[in-house]
Amino acid sequence: YNIDYAPFMNNQNKVGGVIIVFKNITEQYKIDKLQREFVANVSHELKTPITTIKSYTETLLEGAIEERQLAEDFLNVINSESDRMSRLVSDLLKLSRMDYEQTKWKKDKLNVTETINEISKKLQIQAKNKDIKLHVDLPYDMNICFDRDGFEQIILNIAGNAVKYTPDGGNVWLSASKNNGKISISIKDDGIGIPMEDQARVFERFYRVDKARSRELGGTGLGLSIAKQIAEAHDSTITINGELKVGTEIIITIPELI
Ligand code: ADP
Repeated sequence: YNIDYAPFMNNQNKVGGVIIVFKNITEQYKIDKLQREFVANVSHELKTPITTIKSYTETLLEGAIEERQLAEDFLNVINSESDRMSRLVSDLLKLSRMDYEQTKWKKDKLNVTETINEISKKLQIQAKNKDIKLHVDLPYDMNICFDRDGFEQIILNIAGNAVKYTPDGGNVWLSASKNNGKISISIKDDGIGIPMEDQARVFERFYRVDKARSRELGGTGLGLSIAKQIAEAHDSTITINGELKVGTEIIITIPELI
């Protein structure tokens, strides 16, 4: 609590009493704390690639540039770390625009099957690189009212994770069903799974089950929080089902447009 007080005078100009104001600042305190943690996280996430880029560049300048193969390896690291930094900044911008409600959603009628079939062409490339089978099984009569880019971002983030966190040769299933005026899109994999105790937290910004693995795979730790925020802006929800070592299923539930 934050406490303020002030005396007040009576008509004989003597102290007549004291006004005490108790202000509940718990909520504000929580917000400040989250804000501080967020800034600490962002700084840390940016510091790691910057340190790598700097040290590889210095080594190159100190002579490694003369050895062609070594130089090429170093430059590849510098290149991929720069890519990661730029993904991070672009994810942060997306979140910040949504936080300040500056994202202009263009809510249109979308056919779920058509749209997912278009999006899955991009996924097919990622899957093929890892020899992962992408099974798409969608009925034709489902429409939603959703921003096209926002919808694509949700599917790419979630299905991209399914591909990322499933070992080579695995499977990813994309399916949809409807129930009680809602459409559920399921994205399922037979990958490494998310431990029960982490399932609720993976939607938090920068939360990862395995930091090193996520970084190695080029993750920013923001994909699911972005997906969740887009879903919320469209009265939709995202939930997780899944067992560690068996795989993960993520379900996006969206009101049906009739
Ligand atoms: P990242 O960029 O690290 O992938 P996300 O916000 O997209 O960040 O996901 C947060 C974390 O949730 C990941 O780091 C990973 O630990 C876990 N995760 C997400 N999807 C899956 C999945 N399909 N299988 C296993 N773990 C997953």
